[in-house]
Amino acid sequence: MATMIQLPKGTRDILPSEIHKWYHIEAVVRQLCQDFGYQEIRTPVFENTDLFVRGVGDTTDIVQKEMFTMVDAGGRSLTLRPEGTSPVVRAVLENSLYAGPMPLKLFYNPLTCYRAEKPQAGRQREFHQFGIELFGAATPAADAEVILVAYELFRRFGLADRLLLKLNSIGCPVCRAAYRNALIDYLTPYKDELCDTCRQRMDKNPMRVFDCKSEICQGIAKGAPLITDYLCDDCREHFESLQETLAELEIPFEVDPTIVRGLDYYRRTVFEFVSGDIGAQATVCGGGRYDGLVEELGGDPLPGIGFGLGIERLIMSLENAGYAFPELPKTAVYVGMTDGSLDVLTTRIVTALRRAGISAEKDIVGRSVKAQMKYAGKLGVRFALILGENEIETNRVTVKDMQGGEPFEVSLDGLAGTIEEKLRG
Ligand code: ATP
Ligand code: MG
Repeated sequence: MATMIQLPKGTRDILPSEIHKWYHIEAVVRQLCQDFGYQEIRTPVFENTDLFVRGVGDTTDIVQKEMFTMVDAGGRSLTLRPEGTSPVVRAVLENSLYAGPMPLKLFYNPLTCYRAEKPQAGRQREFHQFGIELFGAATPAADAEVILVAYELFRRFGLADRLLLKLNSIGCPVCRAAYRNALIDYLTPYKDELCDTCRQRMDKNPMRVFDCKSEICQGIAKGAPLITDYLCDDCREHFESLQETLAELEIPFEVDPTIVRGLDYYRRTVFEFVSGDIGAQATVCGGGRYDGLVEELGGDPLPGIGFGLGIERLIMSLENAGYAFPELPKTAVYVGMTDGSLDVLTTRIVTALRRAGISAEKDIVGRSVKAQMKYAGKLGVRFALILGENEIETNRVTVKDMQGGEPFEVSLDGLAGTIEEKLRG
């Protein structure tokens, strides 16, 4: 026997037994986005590598060690998307979406993302994100709306009380310059203790130390100066206004000056929704304002803010909360036959049912009547009937209610109508 080929490391199959969870989340997300006026956008699975190098930033973990990059036959470097924001910005510029009504409100769901990370619970190499991007609104009210979209999603899932919203402002290029210097001054004496990555990125991206997963770096970061003490007047006002709005809307939050998402084009508001009960990979949703990104990618200045929400982590949170995902409906009717010669006739009857909006299956294996009924039982159909010469001649058939109701007799022409009534009642 040939050896079996297994899944690539860090990937997962989504099986029929769990697909109902995905359908449900997709439906809730779609409704939510419609309620807030966001429109769906779908971008390719791969992009030119430069998009992510510039869009995510070449000092980030994603670009330095997590990208799946390949070269095509024409020598072009392509990368499987590690995130959704840069592709959406590219699409906005390439299709001149900025020329339409502003603000421009877009979402994607579910978007597969690819990162060559060490797989563990809540961390995969292929994973799925729901995300939104809001362009053309620089106000604290826009920040509040984006946070509210995520909060409202969690509320609709009954998770709002189980997740903590952590909020920060990382300032603008003006106030961040002074902060950067203070941070580098603080970190310099610890240079030899920092992990290789933090040391190498100390000059270009010192805020990375707050994001570092090394315990030593985390310890050092504890004593570091905080961005919130360095905000300029405009950034402070913006941040205070956002906090006031959230408080008035009764959305609980905690200011956490160690949340950084330390890229140059991130400005002001950054936030995360963190779960207390899904283990180490606890951030379900992360977002922020990226007012510099559109310019970085070749467009005219255009403010933007958005978030990405990991669907696998959302499912883990829902499962921990004992969430009851609605099951998919089972096939309603099984139509069996006593003899293969009745196959075409049986097919016509199930076709009529299906066209009447009633899901139906028939035998396609050539099984005995007894085996057909057994199969119908396994399917969990509500109704089953067997067609034989007698049923065809008399135009009448007995329908068995597989969930314990009385069997009933009906004419073949009246089958769809009667079953429809019974399913409704
Ligand atoms: P982390 O600190 O956990 O690595 P991140 O900052 O890299 O997260 P983002 O780029 O902000 O994550 O992505 C947004 C969301 O996507 C995360 O909050 C998380 O829910 C999810 N996510 C990110 N990376 C993975 C992964 N490798 N596997 C599963 N979900 C992920
Ligand atoms: Mg990561």
